[in-house]
Amino acid sequence: MSRGVSSASERLRMSLNREEGLGKLDEIVLKYGYVEGKPYSFKDHEYQIEIIKDTRSRIDVQKCSQVGASEMGVQKCLAIMAVMNYVRVMFSLPTKEMANTFSKDRFDGAIEQSDFYDGLVAAGGNAAGQKKLGTNMLYVIGTFGSKSAISVPAEFIFSDEVDFSNDVVLGKLNSRLRHAKSVDEKGNRGFRFRFSTPTVEGYGINEGFSAGDQRYYMCKCEHCEHWVLPDYFTDFVIPGYERSMAEFTVDDLRNDRFDTDNAWIKCPHCAKNLFSSLINPARRSWVAKLSDRWDHSYQVFPWDVPKYNTPPAIIKQFADYPLTSDFMNFVIGLPFMDAENSFITSKEWKDKTCTVDMWIFGLVAAQAPTVGGMDIGKTCHLFVKVKVGKGWHVIWMEKLKNTKEEPAAPRVIERYDYYRMAKLCIDAGPDITLVNQLVAARSGIQAVVYTTVSGIVPVLETKAGDVINADRTKTLTLTLKDHNSGNTFYPKQQDLKDELFEHFKTTKKIRERNADGEMKERFVKDKKSDHWVHAANYAKIAELTIEYHGSHSQALGPYTVTTAKIGEKAEKDEIGRGSKEQYSTLAGLFGMGGKRR
Ligand SMILES: [Zn+2]
Repeated sequence: MSRGVSSASERLRMSLNREEGLGKLDEIVLKYGYVEGKPYSFKDHEYQIEIIKDTRSRIDVQKCSQVGASEMGVQKCLAIMAVMNYVRVMFSLPTKEMANTFSKDRFDGAIEQSDFYDGLVAAGGNAAGQKKLGTNMLYVIGTFGSKSAISVPAEFIFSDEVDFSNDVVLGKLNSRLRHAKSVDEKGNRGFRFRFSTPTVEGYGINEGFSAGDQRYYMCKCEHCEHWVLPDYFTDFVIPGYERSMAEFTVDDLRNDRFDTDNAWIKCPHCAKNLFSSLINPARRSWVAKLSDRWDHSYQVFPWDVPKYNTPPAIIKQFADYPLTSDFMNFVIGLPFMDAENSFITSKEWKDKTCTVDMWIFGLVAAQAPTVGGMDIGKTCHLFVKVKVGKGWHVIWMEKLKNTKEEPAAPRVIERYDYYRMAKLCIDAGPDITLVNQLVAARSGIQAVVYTTVSGIVPVLETKAGDVINADRTKTLTLTLKDHNSGNTFYPKQQDLKDELFEHFKTTKKIRERNADGEMKERFVKDKKSDHWVHAANYAKIAELTIEYHGSHSQALGPYTVTTAKIGEKAEKDEIGRGSKEQYSTLAGLFGMGGKRR
């Protein structure tokens, strides 16, 4: 490739017109961008022009697959490096392996095909993770699997597939913008451009999309001349299929009565075929739903690239993504929640399941063991449940302050004894002192480490006193199922149930393709508190250890307050001592003074 005079003079010209250049990124892409041996073109991908031109400091693009979004990201990134001087640009992908492949395949491909970009790359300045283009540096990094986080400041951050990236590393990456030179009028430093397939509502790209001005690539129907936005659920038509698209499954795809070859999209206004309008770029335009918002956000649907994503081609992808959630995320480009991936948190569900009164304990606890779970922190969240028939009743939820002046250990042990817990699982941190005190005080109290456990069994316990290794995804899946089955009942106190359900809202299961192309599940959370979810999950793990490791005998022992096992170390530490007095205090606290057996 030539590194001739022309590219040098181009560079000079560009650097002189930096401000102007940033405003014409689409022209730069057309001028210098190459893909698959040909100059880059927006033909049949006209939706990209506005997104590439957009220089707002915060941009989120929620998109489906098959619309060329990654290539758009590469071209926008290179165009910015063509017009800027002395800036660092970071481009992140979910994993280190993906970053390496992406760097070689997409970036090197785009650079080598273009005389201009090739001329910008300094000799020896092109490694997989780090490239020098002119005076600028490009870092291509993975959020999982990279040993060290990049610790240099940055001016631009591009993040591809944020929903499948490591949240913590993305957060650290964003903090690299703190010393960026450019500041917009809202005080945002640097530029952050994120794009991803969505997973669940309120997480990742959907959180960003919802916070932005929510642009849709609207269509002016040539039949009725109304600006419309077609909707998969209401405007997708399959001849012969009468039910709602929400109920369409991969089995329906194989049903001959449904003519998927002739699927079409109707105009939401006049109900005529919208395709000839969708495919005409003169009839398409980005429109912000909330134009007063500062941050920009875009929703890209498959029919925004209609030449390649025709209605039959869209619906046939059910064969590749048989699960509705995957189809909605990857093919349509929308977040999707159902009972498989989210805790049901509707008011109806709260009313149905938050019915437990304290008297339950007195009634049933004599026959059945209780198990507990506790999330440890400055405030500990304790959760105690007992089996009743096929389901479980949560008979105690309590927030216990844990400070140096007021350590939680004695109170936790009182409750452990009082409820005759067969097992209490707690998290293994962050307060190691508390964890050690509790584990030493009672053999039935065990710390849990979240890990990956292979095979079907979700928990691995070696022996009493050791930590329990529990598979995070498998155990949370079981906790989710328990909740959504309607067989777990919670206290009916208003404040407790409200908080519990708020915490349940934070945690959702996403599915992502691993390196082998298999769909893997992982639980993610938004930025709000999720302590009760983990308290509930630790109680589930306690239940599982009893089921799998047969700790029943211990659990079903005769009930006497005085036989509570107080470890030698515990006595030394004066933990759990004088339990008789404490029990009366507890009974008072629980409002069951005289009724206790
Ligand atoms: Zn119409």
